[in-house]
Amino acid sequence: MPPPDSVSFRRLLAWSFGPCVPAWAVLAGLVVFAGLDGVAALVGAVVVFLLMVALVFGRLADFDRLIRYAEESLLDPDTAPPELTRSATAQRLLTAIAALRKLWTERREAAAGLARSGQDILDSLPDPLILIDRRRRILSANVAAGELFDMDRTAQRLAGRDLASVIRDPKVLEAADQALQQDRKGTIQFTLPSPVEHTFAALVVPLPVAHADGTAAIVALYDQTERLKTESMRADFVANASHELRTPLAAVLGFIETLQGPARDDAEARDKFLDIMLKQANRMTRLIDDLLSLSRIELREHTRPTQAVDLEAIIRAAVELLDRLAKERHSTIIVDIAPDVPAVIGDTGELGQVLHNLLGNAIKYGGDGGKVEITVALSDFRPPAMQGKGPCVRMSVRDSGEGIPREHLPRLTERFYRIDTARSRSLGGTGLGLAIVKHIVNRHRGAMTIDSEIGKGSVFSVYLPPALERTMVRAAS
Ligand code: ADP
Repeated sequence: MPPPDSVSFRRLLAWSFGPCVPAWAVLAGLVVFAGLDGVAALVGAVVVFLLMVALVFGRLADFDRLIRYAEESLLDPDTAPPELTRSATAQRLLTAIAALRKLWTERREAAAGLARSGQDILDSLPDPLILIDRRRRILSANVAAGELFDMDRTAQRLAGRDLASVIRDPKVLEAADQALQQDRKGTIQFTLPSPVEHTFAALVVPLPVAHADGTAAIVALYDQTERLKTESMRADFVANASHELRTPLAAVLGFIETLQGPARDDAEARDKFLDIMLKQANRMTRLIDDLLSLSRIELREHTRPTQAVDLEAIIRAAVELLDRLAKERHSTIIVDIAPDVPAVIGDTGELGQVLHNLLGNAIKYGGDGGKVEITVALSDFRPPAMQGKGPCVRMSVRDSGEGIPREHLPRLTERFYRIDTARSRSLGGTGLGLAIVKHIVNRHRGAMTIDSEIGKGSVFSVYLPPALERTMVRAAS
């Protein structure tokens, strides 16, 4: 029998006293009505009481253990159930408490699982999300918010901080205060200056009923940088394209007016002006051709070419097409294709345009009497921008021109971006050639790199996925 440690003497007396009362009443009746000796009756009463104490003691100890078990279970769910020896009722109660405890543990685990999965859902969202309490303190945040605001990229480090220590923009804080104090939802745009400037739309939504964890409002951030950049690029593009067309058009109109007026009978001026008008009209045609090419490629950019094509044939055709220009500028073109280079997955026409633009630029900007080298080789290096793994085919066009200052390199593939606009125009450039190359390379799931050294020249390299099952058909040369 377990030790009777928990049974207090007073409770033992109290529990034993009540059940003795009927027996004592009978003894008292026997004394009064049947002449039982008073001393004998007293002895009997004491014996009854002692027997009752002995009977109650074991049961009371069982109930005490049960009560202590229930109390300790609240603090420590792993408390071991007590051993009950006397009371069947206490045993049944213990079974009921154990069943309740099991149910409670299951519910608690389900609630914890739900909370965890709630956090997992928040973490899986790509946009930063912050939950704040009534005092504008951060209660929790998802991983995206952690990555955005915390150097250690842990959302936990944000918890407990005031929203103002994370987003300092007064418009956001005002919206958060309005949400918390006036239950008003708000959307604002703000800029985060570091680490890289980003523009966000912040949506602050008050929760109608504060959550058990104290969450009173949600601050959701949506990165608008790319969208705004695309919008401004589109607007710039339209303005640039109109400007590029307006300039030659204005020149042509000016000459037409001159020819209709003051130079009507001047044969010499007429020939000169017609010549200039032809050049300007050609410039407009080139520009429109390039604009059309660009929009055609953009439309197809998401469908990848599937054919295996030989770069050698494409290179030879481009060299032939630009032969006249190369001769005019006294350029030497060298083609070097490594043996056993595989064919690439591509579109012959588009890759022809890539080579035409790169070779054309190398001849144009490579200087008079320059050397242009086209090399094709299998490359183990894959630029990070290129998808997939394994070797790829690199086609490089190297010139011996004056080179490109480093600060221009990242912007060369932007539409209408030129280092020297007047020079580009005088050489017949539209400012769209490299933008077209970039889009074609993107469509081919390839990548382009530009390296340049002032005074030595530039190398434009295009990396393309190989058609591994086929090597190039080498032309007899
Ligand atoms: P453009 O029609 O002006 O040649 P591109 O898009 O082909 O337009 O090239 C953009 C600019 O990049 C050119 O205006 C020129 O300033 C520069 N560029 C392109 N290729 C070379 C090169 N091989 N050497 C030096 N600069 C180049």
